[in-house]
Amino acid sequence: MIIPESSQAESNKSGLLSWISKTPYYKLRHRGFLLFTIFALVLPFIKINGNQVIMLSFLHLEFHLFGISYDMQELYLIPLILILVFVFIFLATSLGGRMWCGWGCPQTMFRTLYRDFIQDKLLGLRKLHLKTRPLKLKKWSERLKYLLGLLIFAPLMFAASANILWFFVAPHEFFELLINHPQEHQFLFGFWIALAVFLILDITWFAERFCHYVCPYARIQTVLFDEDTPVAIYDRVRGDNSDGSRSNKNHEGKSDESGDCTGCLACVRICPAEIDIRNGLQLACIACLECVDACEPVMSRLGKKNLVSWTSEKVLVGFKLNLLRPRVWYYTAIIIIISAILAYRGGNRETLLLNINRTTQLYEVKAEGQRVENHYVVLLTNIDTEAHTFSLTTEMLPGLEIKRPRRPFLIKAGGRVRKVLIISTSKMLVRNPGKSTSLDFKIRAFATDLPETIFSERPAIFIFPAENEVQMTP
Ligand code: SF4
Ligand code: SF4
Repeated sequence: MIIPESSQAESNKSGLLSWISKTPYYKLRHRGFLLFTIFALVLPFIKINGNQVIMLSFLHLEFHLFGISYDMQELYLIPLILILVFVFIFLATSLGGRMWCGWGCPQTMFRTLYRDFIQDKLLGLRKLHLKTRPLKLKKWSERLKYLLGLLIFAPLMFAASANILWFFVAPHEFFELLINHPQEHQFLFGFWIALAVFLILDITWFAERFCHYVCPYARIQTVLFDEDTPVAIYDRVRGDNSDGSRSNKNHEGKSDESGDCTGCLACVRICPAEIDIRNGLQLACIACLECVDACEPVMSRLGKKNLVSWTSEKVLVGFKLNLLRPRVWYYTAIIIIISAILAYRGGNRETLLLNINRTTQLYEVKAEGQRVENHYVVLLTNIDTEAHTFSLTTEMLPGLEIKRPRRPFLIKAGGRVRKVLIISTSKMLVRNPGKSTSLDFKIRAFATDLPETIFSERPAIFIFPAENEVQMTP
């Protein structure tokens, strides 16, 4: 940790740094919240090729990503997507500190909506610059306003939790089930209500304690920081008195008052995480930059520079802003590689999924030892956007014959069909006295109209009995 030795280097304040130094930040944050809310509300309604941009559907056992529908059998892609999300968060944290918390996290957005807009602006129950002061609610009018605030906020949380569920159940399906079949989908609607109640309790009662005690990101973000990461920082060199003490209007006369900090505590009182930023960055800080906004008018009235700023420890002591550090390049490279793999998989994915399982019986000997049968259960999923007629065949092991299904079968677009597959042989495939033999072969499924385009092959095993169990003519 670098201890500030000189005041903020003005010479470094150019380009990007001067842009990110612009206060007040709250206006930018609130615009960002609005854009994020519109984006989250609209995204489930956007369809590409009839599929959502992103959705994990448990009803249809499929996953939509950028308009491509993946079957649950292709869920091996999910870990890649999760890694992508986490590395993206790591990158964002390296570049902007804990910006996700203060600028993108729904927890902070809903807290701002409830505390700053409903309780403060709409109902006048609290003062915006005294975020941490508990509500007294002594008068009846105050209690009524508090209740009204809850009544306004609760439906919004039901809408928000429905919005979250639309990434798991398509919106049109959600409303259709809600209106016509609520009894048959009690788990879905029970979950919706439980999530909404959780959000209401979390935002109105648990508040910033969620960030401090529950959220795992708060724990890991410190290891993602370095001395170039922008955070909210108090300039101790300019702010504190020469004897290292700090002015505090509540304890007048205890210091030499040579530092710029007036001790007004505007930065402390406004902090939703109840932090005194003058004591240094703390784990609970959500990078909302309210303390920066609060100190700005105090210092500008005195004709001085803000004591609290969003900057890096290095910039504070005179170095240049260094965004493109090695770790930023590593994270970017990982994101590009994973995105390329996902794009490649999306472009070269099978249009037919084939899953084969043997039944518990090893084999059946029939026709007085003249025929051997093996039984399988096959699951076929047509990923194509059109219906096709499919057929099955065997490869690599001559002498095998498909007894069932005898005829091709239709699978609609996105449809899934389970079939019992019986493969038999009347040939002496192998002579093995005393024990049965496993023979490798392949099962191929294909669309009869496009056999070279829409097909899938899987390895399988045919169990042929011991020589003394069969009576086949050579
Ligand atoms: S110290 Fe408080 S007000 Fe300042 S950025 Fe952190 S959480 Fe926000
Ligand atoms: S708002 Fe500025 S002047 Fe007031 S206590 Fe905080 S750092 Fe000091």
